[in-house]
Amino acid sequence: LLEVRDLVKTFGVGDAATRVLRGLSLTLEAGEMAALLGPSGSGKSTLLTILGTLMKPSSGGYTMLGQDLIAAQDSELTAFRNLHIGFVFQFHNLLPDFTALENVIFPTAVREGRETPSARARGRDLLVRMGLEERINFPSVKLSGGQKQRVAVARALMNGPELVLADEPTGNLDRVSAMQVMDLIAQINREEGTTFLISTHDEKIADLCRRRIVVGDGLVTG
Ligand code: ATP
Ligand code: MG
Repeated sequence: LLEVRDLVKTFGVGDAATRVLRGLSLTLEAGEMAALLGPSGSGKSTLLTILGTLMKPSSGGYTMLGQDLIAAQDSELTAFRNLHIGFVFQFHNLLPDFTALENVIFPTAVREGRETPSARARGRDLLVRMGLEERINFPSVKLSGGQKQRVAVARALMNGPELVLADEPTGNLDRVSAMQVMDLIAQINREEGTTFLISTHDEKIADLCRRRIVVGDGLVTG
């Protein structure tokens, strides 16, 4: 699905520069479900941001689905990202006054300039799969933390991305809600072949993934 080669990312300049990634290389095959582990500050979020084409590395190569994403222009990257990549963050960023369904379909509706019946149907279907049938028309402010995070997963899946990048998606959840979110992610991975890369500090969450990628000192160390 994707390959990064010798990624270097430096923040700042001169003496104040921090070299976060120091030549990191990684390949993800389609259909993988991988945990991204490593100490705080090791560069997990930086790597996910680069893989999500939200930031370019200082140097190194990145190809996904056969496309060179380093050479690509910003407008091409935006289009690529919208088609192929979904994001889930630790803080779900749901719009509180919007319902669960509105949150799932809103980004697509904004992009396309309209809200189609098929988008609504897909959004509803995803929320049902996330076990939220009873909460489809609830304002998201009234949902529990675990329910909100399941809405965020549904939102990430809305456009049928090949890759979902999740940055500590269960970081704010209790054990039961975290496991529920992970079970649903694993189910989507199995049934749809969606590739997931999930950063976490939690060994129990990592155990639910089929592959572990450990970063340290700006490289993949295991
Ligand atoms: P955590 O587990 O705590 O989330 P992480 O592995 O996700 O950590 P990153 O957020 O990728 O780590 O940060 C790696 C390093 O890069 C840190 O030292 C951080 O201070 C630095 N860093 C990240 N973003 C920036 C930025 N925009 N400007 C300057 N430094 C940054
Ligand atoms: Mg992080």
